[in-house]
Amino acid sequence: MNNQYTIATLGSHSALQILKGAHDEGFKTLVIALNKQISFYKRYSFIDEIIGVDAFSKFPEIEEKLKDKKIIVIPHGSFVAYLGMEGNKKMTLPYFGNKRVLDFEFDRVKQGNWLKESGINTPKEFKNIEEVEFPVIIKSFGAAGGKGYFLVNNKQDLIKKIETFKGQQYVIQQYVVGVSLYIHYFYSSLTNKLEIMSMDRRYETNVDALGRLPFNVPPSYVVVGNSPLVLRESMLPEAYSMGEKVVKKSQELIGPKGLFGPFCLETIITPDQKFYVIEISARIVAGTNLFIEGSPYADLLYNEPMSTGRRIAREIKNAIKQNKLDQILD
Ligand code: AMP
Ligand code: AMP
Repeated sequence: MNNQYTIATLGSHSALQILKGAHDEGFKTLVIALNKQISFYKRYSFIDEIIGVDAFSKFPEIEEKLKDKKIIVIPHGSFVAYLGMEGNKKMTLPYFGNKRVLDFEFDRVKQGNWLKESGINTPKEFKNIEEVEFPVIIKSFGAAGGKGYFLVNNKQDLIKKIETFKGQQYVIQQYVVGVSLYIHYFYSSLTNKLEIMSMDRRYETNVDALGRLPFNVPPSYVVVGNSPLVLRESMLPEAYSMGEKVVKKSQELIGPKGLFGPFCLETIITPDQKFYVIEISARIVAGTNLFIEGSPYADLLYNEPMSTGRRIAREIKNAIKQNKLDQILD
């Protein structure tokens, strides 16, 4: 029955993982790729169809052509980066996930409140310059992938930096000194169970290179790639508990469907073994690409290689079997 459906996504971010997972679960696969990257995606035999575009912003035109096929779109980081929140919401093809979550993900104030009200530990935020405890990180609202973040260690620099934002919205957040850990979850609304699929650390330029320099250089946080990490087992129950709290709160804030499918809590762990959750991504994150063949955590739950991409396809397959596709598509 699956093979009547085609799983489709934009060609970047985690497309290869998503489409390999879909193929392994018996779906047809389609990638919408930039024309200059068609030859790259042709290398992979698990991709059945490639549609070329000059720019991802042309996606709505392609959508029109795909209307009559049984397509299910899997969103990832590039959907947000290249189509924006409104572009995602306007999508008419069946979309895996709850689009209402986008409002809470995009608005830093709403996202901050969601995390705080979940009862998990988050960095302090400062409204008033006089109250700021340094160091702090300033984040503009539109910033993504760590671009446009500034670390500030004194009031004078803070005032200067804020002036450069010229009317743009921003938040001033406690800078948490510790080890970063990105936890990849999957919440199934079919089984009401949360699964930790994998974890990663991001590698960011230049902040992850500064330890090699004997002099001071301002850090930046532009992500380059990801490396694996396993967590002390004694901290794993807390990792599960944080994910469960965020899902539960989403059902109150966003409506009964709440957050489901893949999501990631971006944490920093301090020397007293406390997690600080700095952000939530309510979809598949690119760090899961490390684990196309599964991860230590997925292996504990599945006796077969289970990536997050494949887990999404498995969920869709289960929903088809149970006649509950409406429950997981928007
Ligand atoms: P790209 O497909 O590389 O143009 O990236 C699309 C969006 O996903 C951008 O906002 C990137 O910052 C983000 N992104 C891509 N790769 C990663 C990664 N490995 N970790 C975190 N974010 C990423
Ligand atoms: P984000 O856009 O929230 O994923 O953050 C990108 C990167 O900025 C993170 O991976 C961290 O290296 C850094 N970062 C963001 N917020 C904080 C914080 N409150 N304390 C320390 N580092 C942070």
